[in-house]
Formats: sequence, C-alpha cells, structure tokens
Amino acid sequence: MLLNKILRASVRPGVRLHNSSAAAAASSSSHSSSGFSFELTDQQKEFQQLARKFAREEIIPVAAAYDRSGEYPFPVIKKAWELGLMNSHIPPEYGGMGLSNFDSCLITEELAYGCTGVQTAIEANSLGQMPVILAGSDAQKKKYLGRMTEEPLMCAYCVTEPGAGSDVAGIKTRAVKMGDEYVVNGQKMWITNGGKANWYFLLARTNPDPKCPASKAFTGFILEADTPGVQIGRKEMNMGQRCSDTRGITFEDVRIPKENVLVAEGAGFKIAMGAFDNTRPPVAAGATGLAQRALEEATNYALERKTFGRVIAEHQAVSFLLAEMAMKVELARMAYQRSAWEVDQGRRNTYYASIAKAFAGDIANQVAADAVQIFGGNGFNSEYPVEKLMRDAKIYQIYEGTAQIQRLIVAREHLGRYKK
Ligand SMILES: Cc1cc2nc3c(=O)[nH]c(=O)nc-3n(C[C@H](O)[C@H](O)[C@H](O)COP(=O)(O)OP(=O)(O)OC[C@H]3O[C@@H](n4cnc5c(N)ncnc54)[C@H](O)[C@@H]3O)c2cc1C
Repeated sequence: MLLNKILRASVRPGVRLHNSSAAAAASSSSHSSSGFSFELTDQQKEFQQLARKFAREEIIPVAAAYDRSGEYPFPVIKKAWELGLMNSHIPPEYGGMGLSNFDSCLITEELAYGCTGVQTAIEANSLGQMPVILAGSDAQKKKYLGRMTEEPLMCAYCVTEPGAGSDVAGIKTRAVKMGDEYVVNGQKMWITNGGKANWYFLLARTNPDPKCPASKAFTGFILEADTPGVQIGRKEMNMGQRCSDTRGITFEDVRIPKENVLVAEGAGFKIAMGAFDNTRPPVAAGATGLAQRALEEATNYALERKTFGRVIAEHQAVSFLLAEMAMKVELARMAYQRSAWEVDQGRRNTYYASIAKAFAGDIANQVAADAVQIFGGNGFNSEYPVEKLMRDAKIYQIYEGTAQIQRLIVAREHLGRYKK
C-alpha cells in the first residue's frame, strides 16, 4: 500500500509502527512554536497529493459514466484500497494505518473532489467500522476490522428505518435474546453499501418497554451480511451520488451470536451516536471537496467564457459570486479541520463536528448551485460537470444527521455552556 510506505518513511528511524499512537504521532498535524499552525506536515502533504492524483487520474475520468449507469464503482474502490486510501483509520494492530481523523479528512476531501458518489461508498466503510473501532472487543476488532485490511471489502452502518431517521430512538427493529443468540426482526432503509457489505453494524431494540430510556433500550451488533434471513432490497435510484449503493434491508428471524454484541446489551444507542463525532468531520470534508471542485470548474469557465466583449470573470457580478464561493469553501475547510483536530486531541468535539457538517453541507449546495449559474445554459446540461455536483451536493444536508438536526445539536451544546 502506497500510503503505508509514506507513513513508514515519515516515522523517525528506530520507531516502529506497532500501535495507533505511534501512527497518530507520525501523522498528526504540525505545531509551530506558538502552538498553532495551519501548515501541513510533509507527510500530510504526501497523503493529500496521493489522493489528489488518484482523484484526477482514476476517479474524474469515469465519474460521469458511473453517474449515468448507477453502477457500483468497485474497480475504483479496489484501486483506492490497494493504495491505502480507504480504511485508513483502522489501528495498526488490526492491520490498518491508524491515521488521525485530521489526516483521513485530508484524503476524503481530495476523493470527494473527484466524485462524491465514489467517496460516499468509501466513507460508508468508515461509518460502518467506527462503532467497532470505538467499542469493539479485541477479538471483534481482529475479526471484522482485520479482514477489511486483507481484502477490499465493504461494510455498512445499519440504523435508519422507513419510519425513523432523525428520531433514532424511534427505530422498531427488535432483537430478542434466545440462549446464546439474538433473533432479529425488522427493516432498515437507506443503507449505504447495503447490497455490497460483507458485514453490518446493526442497531436494534432489545428492551421492549417503551418507558426504557434510549440509553438502555438498544443494542449494537455486528452482523455478517450472508446470515440467513437477511434480505437485501433493490438499489434505490437517488437524485445524486448515483453510483453509491443505497438499499433497504429486511431481517427475518436473523440469528446473531451473543459474541457479536458491542460492549453489552443496552449500550447500542450511545455507540451508534458516538460514532458521529468521528464520522461527521469526514462527511464535512467530503462536502468541502465537492464545493472546491464546483469553485474550480466555475472559475476556469469564467476565465474563458466571453460576453459583451470580455471574459465573464471580469463582470463584477460574476467575480463577486466567485469571491463568495471561495469564502465559503475556505471556511468549510477550516470547520472540518477544527472538528477533526479536536477529536484527535481526545476531546469531545460534538459541537465542532455539527458546525462543520451543517456548514459544509449547506455551502456545498450553495456553491454548486452558483457554479451552475456561472455556467449559464451549459450549467444545466449533463455534458458539463456542474449539474452533477448540484445533484450530488443535496445529500450532505440529509445523511449523517440533517441540516436541522445539526442545528439542534449546535444549539444544545451552545446553550449548555451558558446554562447553570
Ligand atoms: C442516500 C442516503 C444514504 C444514507 N445512508 C445511510 C446509512 O448508511 N445508514 C443509515 O443508518 N442511514 C442512512 N441514511 C439515512 C439518513 O441518515 C436519514 O435519511 C436522515 O437521518 C433523515 O432521516 P429521515 O429520512 O427519516 O427524515 P426525517 O427524520 O423524517 O426528517 C424529515 C424532515 O424533518 C426534519 N426534522 C426531523 N426532526 C426534526 C426536529 N426535531 N427538528 C427540526 N426538524 C426536524 C428533518 O431535518 C427533515 O428535513 C441515508 C439516507 C440517504 C438518502
């Protein structure tokens, strides 16, 4: 894996990458003598360059075709896996590179620049793995994270249901303990990688008492995708990110061994929600990558297209629009980097993660729509890249907590600091 080579080359001689803290130390963002720095380390620049080159050479040339066909981009994913551009946060003791959240986000932004359908398929692995990374036992990590580093496998995070998305505590899928197993019945919806996953993180209700608090009523499981009773629905045809695989999944008397419970019965809600502090920064990075692409496409177009005897970039209305777009992209980048950096410091980053996710999701939509505007009639046409960006952007305001839910979290966190 190319990324692994960069990582090893950057570690001080004599230091072996035997655990995640060594890798994290090798990959964490640099500090100036003032304790504050916007400068990336040489190693981070190399990660970024590798992902940038991959996006330019391997993703962009095929992105429009995958968008049209809706086919799953497995050949691209396989190449990304071979280069070490996915699953980068799996700790070294389980065969991964143990990159910091910050470093993983740098890679995500670059992949998203190429195509967010591809990036979402890759990112869904991180989302599926995160509960296991955060809460799995050593045996569970060895078994389920280990195999992701041995083969280009996919996994998925299986929480949303037809009747409950934002209101996670409203999910109805039930798991009933019978001897050494749990028997699961229910239905999930909108599961990214649903039809491609080798295993799922599954959240199900184990306490039927409606008065039981969410923090005790749900259990998180690891479920092998080929378990009898797992029925995978048709691929959903979505507005954007069309090559990403989104499906409903039905569970009919699915038996999960008790060894596959994460932490303990009743601990699932916290595990499922806790994953978002680690996965919202990369989602925000993805939205930023899309916005950066829209800005660049619009800028290049504005420097070529002429009206009234001059390139449109020379019309103040267009140049100011580009300036607004640039301001938004810069701020979204700072927001995701801050939120990733906070979690890398071992601090609770919920506030920053929701700010970054909400802001980057919103500006990706605004910047993509502005790019379409700058392209004029061409912007509305699928021969040009920006209409895809506008369609792809919408989901960033919906998945991993909608724009409204992020505001609820930011408000709660903000007010919590003031309330006595
Ligand atoms: C392409 C795609 C991929 C996805 N991938 C996954 C996945 O891999 N795994 C997974 O588990 N889920 C996944 N999801 C589900 C996604 O997280 C949910 O769709 C999302 O959380 C919203 O839930 P909902 O669709 O049920 O909308 P609802 O919760 O019904 O919300 C509808 C509207 O009401 C608003 N709203 C709801 N409650 C409030 C409130 N209290 N205050 C203010 N406004 C509110 C929402 O913001 C939204 O605008 C995916 C969805 C899509 C479309």
